[in-house]
Formats: sequence, structure tokens, C-alpha cells
Amino acid sequence: MKQLFPSLLTLAILSSSFPIAGSGRSPGPSGSRQPIFGFRDAAAENSVESRFLAVPDPKLAEEHLRTLTQAPHMAGTPEDKATADYVAQKFREAGLDTEVVEYKVWLNYPAEISVDVTAPAGVEMHGPTREHVDGDPYDSDPRVVMPFNGMSPSGDAEAEVIYANYGTPEDFEELEKLKVDVRGKIVLVRYGQNFRGVKEFIAQEHGAAGVIIYSDPYDDGWRRGDKYPEGPWRPDTGVQRGSVGYMFEFPGDPTTPGVASLPSLPESKRISPEQSAQMPKIPVTPLSYHDARPILEHLAGPDSPREWQGSLPFTYHVGPGPVKVKMHLKQDYQFRTLWDVVGRVRGSDLPDEWVVSGNHRDAWVYGAVDPNSGTAAMLEAIHGVGELLKSGWKPKRTLVFCSWDGEEEGLIGSTEWVEQHEPDLANSPAYFNMDVAVSGPKFGASAVPSLKQFLRDIAKAVPSPKGGTVYEAWQKSSRAREGIGQEDYKPPAAQVTADVPVGDLGSGSDYTAFLQHAGVPSDDIGSTGPYGVYHSVFDNFAWFKKFGDPEFTYEQEMARVFGLQAIRMADADVLPYNYEEYGKEIAAYLDAAKKRAESKFGDRAFDFGAVSAAAKHFQEAATKILAKQKTPPRDPAKLAQLNQALRGTERALLVPEGLPHRPWFRHAIYAPGEYTGYAAVVIPGVNEALDKGDAERARQQLASLAAALGRAAKTLEGSR
Ligand SMILES: [Zn+2]
Repeated sequence: MKQLFPSLLTLAILSSSFPIAGSGRSPGPSGSRQPIFGFRDAAAENSVESRFLAVPDPKLAEEHLRTLTQAPHMAGTPEDKATADYVAQKFREAGLDTEVVEYKVWLNYPAEISVDVTAPAGVEMHGPTREHVDGDPYDSDPRVVMPFNGMSPSGDAEAEVIYANYGTPEDFEELEKLKVDVRGKIVLVRYGQNFRGVKEFIAQEHGAAGVIIYSDPYDDGWRRGDKYPEGPWRPDTGVQRGSVGYMFEFPGDPTTPGVASLPSLPESKRISPEQSAQMPKIPVTPLSYHDARPILEHLAGPDSPREWQGSLPFTYHVGPGPVKVKMHLKQDYQFRTLWDVVGRVRGSDLPDEWVVSGNHRDAWVYGAVDPNSGTAAMLEAIHGVGELLKSGWKPKRTLVFCSWDGEEEGLIGSTEWVEQHEPDLANSPAYFNMDVAVSGPKFGASAVPSLKQFLRDIAKAVPSPKGGTVYEAWQKSSRAREGIGQEDYKPPAAQVTADVPVGDLGSGSDYTAFLQHAGVPSDDIGSTGPYGVYHSVFDNFAWFKKFGDPEFTYEQEMARVFGLQAIRMADADVLPYNYEEYGKEIAAYLDAAKKRAESKFGDRAFDFGAVSAAAKHFQEAATKILAKQKTPPRDPAKLAQLNQALRGTERALLVPEGLPHRPWFRHAIYAPGEYTGYAAVVIPGVNEALDKGDAERARQQLASLAAALGRAAKTLEGSR
């Protein structure tokens, strides 16, 4: 689901050739393994890890991807069920105790979708035009769903059009300055910069009658490079589908906030979709730049600000009109069945501690990159775990692998599962997410700060198809990125270390419920490149084989990284978190918030004393426990106590009553932004109150944050 912003840099990397690494017996640069915490026999552990690393196979990953993407498989369709069955079979072949879990959730499929230009005379457009390029073997399948937006209501609107750039709050302010009134108008915005549900929400707040979201060639079309099938970028008719559910208050099934949508859930426990904070009120639908062009080209009114100019060959005006558009959307809403596939390997020593790894399986159409590059890599990771199991190995902690459904509509499969298993997850040491595993060769990751060093250590143990380790390639690409305007798709984290940057977790994929609702330390990994076919019919096997990962060696790399995380975490004697890095990041967030507070309210408005003291307390406790992690107690009871302290700290950062106006989100340090959706807002209670200019709330939230930091510090200290 997550939006990928292309990086120009990866173009250069893609063209370099590399040997196929390590499909044979010698998987990794031996000896590159950093000493980590604990005292388990390092040689034995290394041998488990190297035996695992030898298994993931590019050819098998290719076979998985080909099978998973042979038909369009939107959530809830028979083809989606067929992919669940395939995944379940692979889980079982590897020896996982596997179940297919069903949920009943509120979803729309499109019944009738049309967008027609009705004025001025002589301008014709009747969309959406079917997605097509000559030479694509997949785009004519009758099961390809017509372009639409998930969670849009049915509705008709006919009105003059206004162009609003990316549809950010600043863009609407700019329209106000230009004295352009959007009330009652159809707002045309382009994809990019924020989550599409946020575009819809802001347009609705400003009184628009409908929203059309199109893909401008500037953002992921020919302005970036050759378009598909000559290159990897979006062709004229390519449309980005996607959910416009507004997940600021909660993700998942719109009718069951905080409750699992099991088929047995009585109707009375659901809220009506009309009451759900998730559901937009005005119709919204996507278009290609082929279809948006006649609308944009005939807009009059003021010239748009120059930064709003996309790459169609005329000056963009903001309107309103004289172009009029008629939107006609008839959505088929029903409660539909989703299928999560969940496979377990019971832990030998600590079965109640679940190390959970997951990837979503449902796609808008074929989903070769998003998400099935992740599914194929996950299946090869599980293949590796299966080989270890056959040789007699047992993980110390329980391994859980999940193939989520309904992610695209609103992170539904993962959210419902977390809501169902919240008590079981109270002892979970980690959730590892992978959505888009591979769209190109550049490794990247986001994580809670406590897992950032763990991730770097994992990357040091896995070979890169470019030669050397994933870590070395990662270092090179992050160094090379400096000075280039295009950022990675993740917002940069507070840079408190000189090491490779690991981003913060906002929202946009299945870690959301784990981290922000249940307080499970989480990360998210992916390998990216030039990718302009996101959520279109062209994100298919032919695209992937030509541009994504022709040799499937990055699939192999991601299978190794993904699986190694789970194995190392499950077998760790001492849980490998680094809370010192967490403490430093929190201190940096507080510094920034203090500066913002002073610039907005003057330097006497708030007392940061208590929260700064709590942050310092947390940092000191983190430093002490890190020393203990390096020389852990031999006594099993003391060791258990140390691990319990480490495991409980993330959860201690949850605010029991939740964040203001959105109790489902409980994490005191990270939440998805109100007006970004994907990007994280850090220390959200405080920063959102400052944004709103609400000093009283900001004071309460400083106190609430101080309390959470105090609890987390005490939890770390509970290890004596
Ligand atoms: Zn996805």
C-alpha cells in the first residue's frame, strides 16, 4: 500500500551488472558477523544462521512470484483465496503449523465508474480509459478491476474543476490566496507527497463536491525516464488505484475499531459504515494522465504557482472551470471474507514469546512488486526455516509468519489479527514487516530506534548481489544519496548516529497495529528502484522480470534478511535491542519540539523540565541496561528478568488512554501524521497540539509523555 517516491539515483545502480551471489553452499562473507549480545555458543549459532542463509533460492522465488501473480487477486476474490491456499501449502511443506483465518469486513468493489467532461463544448473525455500498452501480456484479462478508489462512497457530482496540486493543507491555503473557492467544485489533485485518503479528507474539509486524483508524468511517468514497456515508468493510461479510507483515527475494518472482525462477531458490535470515521463523504476516483490531460488543458483562471506545474506540455491553470466534469460512481459495498494465512513454529524454551513476521498478499491487480515480491521472498525465508526444522533445529521463541489479506483497503488483515491477539502479543519481542520487498536494488529500512542497530547487524551478515554485504551496499547508496534532491520514500529519522540511516515508522503498511496499537517493537524493510507502475495493471510479472529483479537475486537477498531477523530474534539469549539509540532520538525530538514551542508561543509558555528529566532518566537507564546486555548474568532467573525488562520497554511507551481524539493509537513516540498519513509524526501528542496552537493540550501532552518516559525508564531499571 505504501507510496513509493522514486529516486533518480537508483537508475545508475540498476544499470550495473552483478554476479548471482550465494545460491550455493557458501552463503555469506564469513566472519562479518558482529558479536551481538549474549553467550550462546557463537559457533553453533553461526552455523544455524549460515545453514539458513544457504537456502533461499532465486529460481524458487521466481516460481512463487509467477504463481502468485498469474491472475488479478484483489482482497476477497476467489483468486485471492487461491493465493492464500498456495501460501498455506508452502507454509505446511516447511513444517509450519498453519491456519487460514477468516475475517468478515466492509469493502467496496466498483460497479459503475465514469468521469466525463461535460463542458465546454468540443472538449471530449470519457474515462476511465482502459489501461493498455502494446506489448504487455497481462492488461487485457477481464478480471482486471476497473480503476477506482477503495472506501470511496457511491455518488454523483457534476461541477467545475479546480486544480489543487498535491492537495496538501498548504496547497489549499494557496488557493485561498488566489481567491479560488473550492466549495461545491470537483477538485483535481495529483498523486504524491501525502496519502491519498488525506487528499480526500482535506478537500472534503474545504467543501469540495468530489475529488479526482491523477498520476502526473512528473511524479512517476516519462519525466522520470522511459515509460513501460520501454522503461519502468508509468505509461499514459496507467492508473494508481488505492484506498481513500481515512485512517487517522484507526485502521482496519471501518466497522470494528478496536475489535476483531471475526465472522462470529455479532452485528450489534459493529458500527454502521456511515458512522465510521474512516469513510469519506464525497466521491473520489483516480485517473491516468491520459484522461486527466483534457481537463487540465482546458482549465482557465489564474496560472498555478510554478511548483504546481507538472509535466504535461501546457501551463497548468487552477480554474475554476470552464471545464465541467461529471463523476458517476456506483460502488458495490458488502461484508466480504478475507483470508490471513498464519503459520507457527512453537518455541522450545519460551513458547509464549511470539516473534512475528508478515507481508500482505492481496493486490489491486497482479501486484508483482506490491506486495508479492514480498510474499515470494517470505516464502523463501520460510523455505530456509523449514530446512532448519528438518535438520532438528528448534527456535527458542515461537516463530509466527503471517500472510495478510486486505492490506490495500486499509491494513485490514493485520489490524484485525492484532486486535484478536492483543493479549498474546503482550510478550512479543518483535514484528518484522515486508510489503514491497523488491522494486529495485537499493536496500532501505525503517524501524523503532531500539531495532535500528539490530537491522544494521543483520545487514552485515547477508551478502549483497552487488558483492560485499547488504550493509556495505546500503552504506554506499546512502552516502551517494547525499546532495540529491530526491529523498527515499521514508522520511529521514533523527540522525543521532553517523551510521546508515534507518527511517521512522509512520503508517502505510501492516506494522501499524503491532507498533502503534499493541506496542510491539517493529521494523519494515524493502529494496527499491525506479518504479512507476504502482497499483496499476502494469505492476505484473512481465514488468518485474524486465525491470524489478530480472535474476531474482534481490528477492534472495530480501528472503535472507527477512528470515535472519526472525531466527536471530527467536534464538537470542539476550534480546538484541539498543535502547540507547532510542533515548538519543527521543532527546532530539524533544529539542525540536521545544524550539517549535518557543517560536510559536514564546519561551515561557511551557515547562519542558519534567519531560526532559524523564527523557534523561530513560537515557541513563538505557545506557546501564546496554552494559548488562553485553555481559549478561549467567543466572537464568536474572537473565529472564533482564529480557523481561527489555521486552516490556516499548509497551511502556504506550499511553493507556491513547492519543487525543484517536484512542486506538497509543504510542507516545510515533503515529501517522494527520495530514501526511504515511510519514511519522514523532511525539505526536505534543507536536499535534503545538500544530493546532492548543497550549493547554500541549501542556497535558507534555505531562503524558513525561509519564510514559518515566514508565519506560522504570521498566528498563526493573532488570536488577
Ligand atoms: Zn503493499
